[in-house]
Amino acid sequence: YEAKQQHVRVLVYRAGDDEHHLRQVGLMGLLRYALELQQFRLVFQPKIDLASRRVVHVEALLRWTTPEYGDVTPDEFIPLAERSGMIRAITRHVVDEALRQAAPWIADGLIEGVAVNLSPMDLVDGDLPEYVSQRLQMHGVSSRSLVLEVTEHTVMRDLEAARTTMHRLREQGVRLSIDDFGTGHSSLAQLRSLPVDEIKIDKSFVADLGDGSGDAVIVRSAIEIGHNMGLKVIAEGVEGQASLAILEALNCDMVQGYLFSRPLPPDAFVDWCTRFQREQADA
Ligand code: C2E
Ligand code: MG
Ligand code: MG
Ligand code: MG
Repeated sequence: YEAKQQHVRVLVYRAGDDEHHLRQVGLMGLLRYALELQQFRLVFQPKIDLASRRVVHVEALLRWTTPEYGDVTPDEFIPLAERSGMIRAITRHVVDEALRQAAPWIADGLIEGVAVNLSPMDLVDGDLPEYVSQRLQMHGVSSRSLVLEVTEHTVMRDLEAARTTMHRLREQGVRLSIDDFGTGHSSLAQLRSLPVDEIKIDKSFVADLGDGSGDAVIVRSAIEIGHNMGLKVIAEGVEGQASLAILEALNCDMVQGYLFSRPLPPDAFVDWCTRFQREQADA
């Protein structure tokens, strides 16, 4: 009986595995046509400065919906895009779209800039800095108004390539942020060798900060490290008032999270942001 049970378990496991594999293959095939079919759209989440209580930047986050699979999260499709080489085209699309959509918001003074996420392969794409510069010009956005977020893992995967690309972007005036800070294994020396403006503390350390189970010690030291290096520090995944209070007490510069706003479609973001900025001005 036990042997039979084990056998069943093995079969179930294999079936699950196959299903996962089938899904990956299916998604990979669809990803090829996703740009052409205009299945991507951007949502926008505010990055708020704590001292001024103003939305400074907005992060553009990619969404993909297919008739076959419904909504697919970026945590699932970005790695597939990396593997298939589609990421190059996708990143360019996101840079272009984010700048196009945010340009009037920046021109109107609603926000100062827009942030876009990069993937590991983007940092070995030697033509990316040139593309970015061309799009900035085309949309009439100052390079100081673009933040590119690169995860600590991405940087550490090929430190030399990352450093080269990041320096070229920095020379143009683009700002750079280390995303998901604390989840990679960069040393301080490595971090200091990169032209970075901001570190973004990963949400896994921020989530439960308020109830005492979160990593207050890690958050505190990340903020100290950032400040000692002359960087701005932002905490992502801020969901509760208690977490916010702790981050303020620890002198964190900026926050981002559901407590303020979920990532929103462009129109909803403009409405939310206009109201938020006005309320802060009146307060
Ligand atoms: P990320 O850049 O670290 O973005 C933060 C993620 O946390 C986003 O998930 C956001 O929706 C979510 N988030 C924001 N506030 C909260 C909160 O208070 N609580 C919780 N639990 N989550 C919160 P999303 O949009 O699913 O994106 C996941 C990841 O996929 C991103 O992590 C980023 O690494 C990647 N990604 C998203 N869009 C793009 C893109 O256009 N290009 C590339 N290369 N990567 C992207
Ligand atoms: Mg990010
Ligand atoms: Mg992050
Ligand atoms: Mg992340």
